[in-house]
Amino acid sequence: MNQSVEKVNLLGLTRAKMIEFFKSIGEKPFRAQQVMQWIHQYGVCDFDQMTNVSKVLRERLKGIAEIVEPEVIFHKVSSDGTRKWVMKMPGGSSIETVLIPEGNRGTLCVSSQIGCALDCSFCSTGKQGFNRNLTTAEIVGQIWVAVKSFEQIDPQKERPVTNVVMMGMGEPLLNFDNVVDAMNIMMDDFAYSISKRRLTLSTAGVVPALRKLGELTDVSIAISLHAPNDELRSQLVPVNQRYPIAELMDATREYLSRLPDKRKATIEYTLIAGVNDRIEHAQQLIKLLHNVPCKINLIPFNPFPGSDYKKPRSAEVQKFQSLLSNAGYVTTVRSTRGDDIDAACGQLVGQVEDRTRRSGKYIQMQQIPG
Ligand code: SAH
Repeated sequence: MNQSVEKVNLLGLTRAKMIEFFKSIGEKPFRAQQVMQWIHQYGVCDFDQMTNVSKVLRERLKGIAEIVEPEVIFHKVSSDGTRKWVMKMPGGSSIETVLIPEGNRGTLCVSSQIGCALDCSFCSTGKQGFNRNLTTAEIVGQIWVAVKSFEQIDPQKERPVTNVVMMGMGEPLLNFDNVVDAMNIMMDDFAYSISKRRLTLSTAGVVPALRKLGELTDVSIAISLHAPNDELRSQLVPVNQRYPIAELMDATREYLSRLPDKRKATIEYTLIAGVNDRIEHAQQLIKLLHNVPCKINLIPFNPFPGSDYKKPRSAEVQKFQSLLSNAGYVTTVRSTRGDDIDAACGQLVGQVEDRTRRSGKYIQMQQIPG
């Protein structure tokens, strides 16, 4: 470390933290709003372009703060319009972010960690091992890059990103504080104005963190269930050995009951041929979910090199779907988007340079809040 003071990266400050920052240098709170708009809404990283900030303050800011934009090393557009960015992180690893346009909607799939420690048996991110948590600025940087790539459009008329799903690389609840801050920035009207209903955190089931989340926020949630009984789920999603299905369903119900509206959880179920796609699995699922307000999203397994699992045939997927639909569950099948650019679910691997921090243990205790 050299002697100079480390500059604050303003890209990662929530409104509350930005206000604190300006207060700490003797400035008025409204500066926070101005600077947030410059960064997040106009994509500006250069203080000199912030024309409603006095020259004196701009010079001062240059000495103590910075806005570090993510380094995009690769950007590709799929034949179906899906876009993928690969961003290089300090330390050498890279992460992936995907934007899926659909009519008026643009859904951004955001990563929360470099790699993942949970090691779900069907997920290629897990096979890469875990490197580190992303900072708040690195998480927010992904939406910053996506929005900025549409600079030519009029933001008053069109919004390229209307929905965000924390379904990229990593387990968001194991990077709790940074993810909560990043989601607050995404929802902020001086930043991206993503509505809480259109911001979804997806978890493999870190139960204490899910309970804690409900005390702090009211975003939508998706639960990566993938199996209707503990025996099978523990094989597919090892964190289930620690927090079995009954506890996860309790925490899900509790989370939903705190919400001011009647929102449902999304139950994600990756269908793997011959593993969890039999009639008996659908029947067990129907029983299990009877008192959980939810809709079900079936995701046919996306193959990746080194995995022996197979994608079910579409007739099998349809059969599974109609069993659930006939039992009264709104059940959708996630269409595979962007697979020509390896942007489909479970195909996001980035490049994890340093896997030395991978451990056989799927959870590092200090990361679990509460
Ligand atoms: N750790 C969080 C966030 C990652 S979301 C979670 O588990 O929810 C990743 C989603 O991608 C998971 O719901 C899983 O269903 C899906 N997924 C992972 N690997 C997949 C694969 N190979 N094929 C299809 N879906 C996959």
